[in-house]
Amino acid sequence: MTITHDLHIHTALSLCANREAHAEGYLAIAKEIGLTKLGFSDHYWDEHIDAVFPREGVESFYGPQNTAHIEQLRPQLDALRGQGVEILFGCETEYDPFHHGVAITEAVAERMDFIIVPNSHTHMMMPASLYEPYEKHADYMVNAYREIIESPVSRYITAMAHPFEAVCCPYDNRLLLKLISDDCYRRLFDRTAQKGIAIEINMSCWGRKTHAEIEQDPVLHLFCLAKECGCRFTFGSDAHDHLAHQTYADHTSFVSTLLGLGEEDLSPITK
Ligand SMILES: [Zn+2]
Ligand SMILES: [Zn+2]
Repeated sequence: MTITHDLHIHTALSLCANREAHAEGYLAIAKEIGLTKLGFSDHYWDEHIDAVFPREGVESFYGPQNTAHIEQLRPQLDALRGQGVEILFGCETEYDPFHHGVAITEAVAERMDFIIVPNSHTHMMMPASLYEPYEKHADYMVNAYREIIESPVSRYITAMAHPFEAVCCPYDNRLLLKLISDDCYRRLFDRTAQKGIAIEINMSCWGRKTHAEIEQDPVLHLFCLAKECGCRFTFGSDAHDHLAHQTYADHTSFVSTLLGLGEEDLSPITK
């Protein structure tokens, strides 16, 4: 199946993105590579939610990435509409471990076209003492996942961003996937499906990989379980630079075929 959407894109408003990454550049490349829907999702922490961060440096990351900051993109996107590519304004907000929920208020969530939330930004949200033993790290992500999908704003969540793929992990993050039982995944994915939240298939880790390498990736097992549980999917590049976006479509159809996905397996927002 050809994937024609990308619902995970960062512009220069994300402090970790390339300073030159802009919506216009993404749109130009989207037309080249045949995408018909782009969802912009800069990093976001709602300033109405008081933040208690367990790690140094996180406050200076999320503090400035507030509502006024990400809203700067909205008029830029409005100017790019009507060119044959549907454009959505959203955000990648955060798991809020302090309040056991999500770092966005209902008032702001209402105004977003879509929202993605990761349970796996453990490099920011998890105390570093939980990296080892690995079981603690895996348990942290299970608990974060549960709290996200059970949070009061869960009905606004479009997809779980890169689920269980621990970001900037000091060791191979795939080691963690096997520490969580299939039963545990199934319980979480059953609930995810019930809530109408999609599972994101994040392409960023496969950029330079061969098809043979992708086939061996243990994260695919999670997607198979999620599919069995009736979850729908979104695809996302997680691009932090529009020039890097050129390769986004290289593997999406391979992965969707590998997982046996059909149109009915994609989240309605992708249509
Ligand atoms: Zn992320
Ligand atoms: Zn991202």
